[in-house]
Amino acid sequence: MFRIGVDLGGTKIELLAMDAAGREIFRKRVPTPQGDYEGTVDSVVSLVGEVEGALKEKATVGIGIPGAMSRVTGLVKNANSTCLIGHDLKGDLEKSLAREVRIANDANCFALSEAVDGAAKGAEVVFGVILGTGVGGGIVVRGEVLTGPNAIAGEWGHNPLPLPRDEDLPLPACYCGRRGCIETYLSGPALQRHPDMNRYEERLARSLAGVINILDPDVIVLGGGVSNNDRLYENVPRLWRPYVFSDHAATRLAKHVHGDSSGVRGAAWLWGR
Ligand SMILES: [Zn+2]
Repeated sequence: MFRIGVDLGGTKIELLAMDAAGREIFRKRVPTPQGDYEGTVDSVVSLVGEVEGALKEKATVGIGIPGAMSRVTGLVKNANSTCLIGHDLKGDLEKSLAREVRIANDANCFALSEAVDGAAKGAEVVFGVILGTGVGGGIVVRGEVLTGPNAIAGEWGHNPLPLPRDEDLPLPACYCGRRGCIETYLSGPALQRHPDMNRYEERLARSLAGVINILDPDVIVLGGGVSNNDRLYENVPRLWRPYVFSDHAATRLAKHVHGDSSGVRGAAWLWGR
């Protein structure tokens, strides 16, 4: 059976159909109807119809969104594509597609994609990190996305930067209403404002050490624009050493394998291999 993954982004909707081995069969991308929730749902439904018409087979459908499904209300929350917020996206898609649909946060889809057949293939516990416009994260344990009762597992970007130093002050204001969030130091735009890689790597190391001390992942995979700086993979594990509460730090820091395709691939893998 084919697996369809949809990456429902703020500017584009991308669909990928894969076979069970992860081979790409069909891919298409269309612009996201701006500010139009019904139009967005219709676009996803017609893309699925198009690929199933071409393949002459019904497929499973997984969707990655820049937000989360609230476990309390069942509605979309925390989405930067604001037209999705407050809607029963899962219910509406299931009605139109006449099947169960699985939806996950796009950082969770990234982590899942890299855990299934990417940079963290075969690892038991994977922390996937997006260092892009924002700073997101997702956790995959034994091939399953960890969601949590608040649907925020892995969302480390709005934790405070650990052990702030003089050069980290004053704590920058974050759009979330707090100050000194990791995202205000480690996002792509933050790096552009202060293009000092040494300082960036030191802050990233401190921040990831906090994750290692709690989750102890086998592999941390980096994605997003900043992750293409290859020096990170050598320098950051050396720099996190003093902050990791262990006599040795075996955690591997890896660069993504699937890059921009991880959104659609992870969404497709929400239905397993
Ligand atoms: Zn914040």
